[in-house]
Amino acid sequence: MGNNSVTVRVPAKVNLQLSVGPRESDGFHNLVSVFQAISIFDDVTVSKSHAGSGVTISVTGEHTHGVPEDHSNLAVKAALLVGSKFDFAVDVHIEVKKSIPVAGGMAGGSADAAATLIAMDALFQLDMSREELHALGCELGSDVPFMISGGTAIGQGRGDQLTAALSRGTYQWVLALSSVGLSTPAVYTECDRMRSELDIAAPQVSDVLMQCLLAADAIGVGNALTNDLQNAACSLRPALSLVLEVGRDYGALGAIVSGSGPTVAFLVADEDAGLDLAVALTASGVVGSVTRAHGPVHGAKII
Ligand code: ATP
Repeated sequence: MGNNSVTVRVPAKVNLQLSVGPRESDGFHNLVSVFQAISIFDDVTVSKSHAGSGVTISVTGEHTHGVPEDHSNLAVKAALLVGSKFDFAVDVHIEVKKSIPVAGGMAGGSADAAATLIAMDALFQLDMSREELHALGCELGSDVPFMISGGTAIGQGRGDQLTAALSRGTYQWVLALSSVGLSTPAVYTECDRMRSELDIAAPQVSDVLMQCLLAADAIGVGNALTNDLQNAACSLRPALSLVLEVGRDYGALGAIVSGSGPTVAFLVADEDAGLDLAVALTASGVVGSVTRAHGPVHGAKII
């Protein structure tokens, strides 16, 4: 790490539980989200550039399609937010090496924002506390604080309440990726539409899931996976139902749409089972591409 440049590695996430409360009058939904950070990483390098150049960004790597290279990028917003909080003009170049699928329900944009906050803190020796970093993260998006912490955690409310979850063991995942993303707001709108006649209760943390995580019970965790956005994601992208079915048929312990999709995450017993499922999914022809990962892993950290 030089004085003029800091690189931060940040993971993707899957949701083990995503419970969505009714739509509030201001359009937001109260959520209960159990996140697990998994071993797919973006590397974000923030380098000082000459005075007056502002914030610039370049995106390289496996997944660049659909990632904006302007001020709408969440990493740029994160850098500018730090400048406005600490009252200095930010002149930096941000390079994002992307391995996290874009618009895949894996919080890639939030991850890059989290990484940028950590990098800015180190680069300009701001010495922010965890709480300050989380508070800034929250301003950028409800998933950002979790991408700073990593591990396994419960997010409640609008992302402003994050607590670590007690989890033992390592979990093996197979991820079925789609080449075309799903828009998170569109999935929420579809969820509201599909549930418009129903009385939706306030979301609660699943005790069963928590007990299984504590016991390192992968079979139990597989059974306890839930996502209230799954039906909406499948409604907008009917092929996802088939992907879920194929994975279950090939012995996944659990199958779930990650966040707002369209990534489908399969929990498997071990690495061998993961390899078998990855081969079967690829051969089935119903998925675009397949990757494997494990979790939980650390949050955004300087490398
Ligand atoms: P989430 O699960 O947090 O709702 P997601 O994982 O489905 O999000 P992202 O990969 O975060 O989706 O991207 C959603 C959209 O955000 C992209 O289509 C893109 O237009 C925009 N975006 C802004 N900044 C970034 C970034 N750094 N990386 C990826 N997408 C970004």
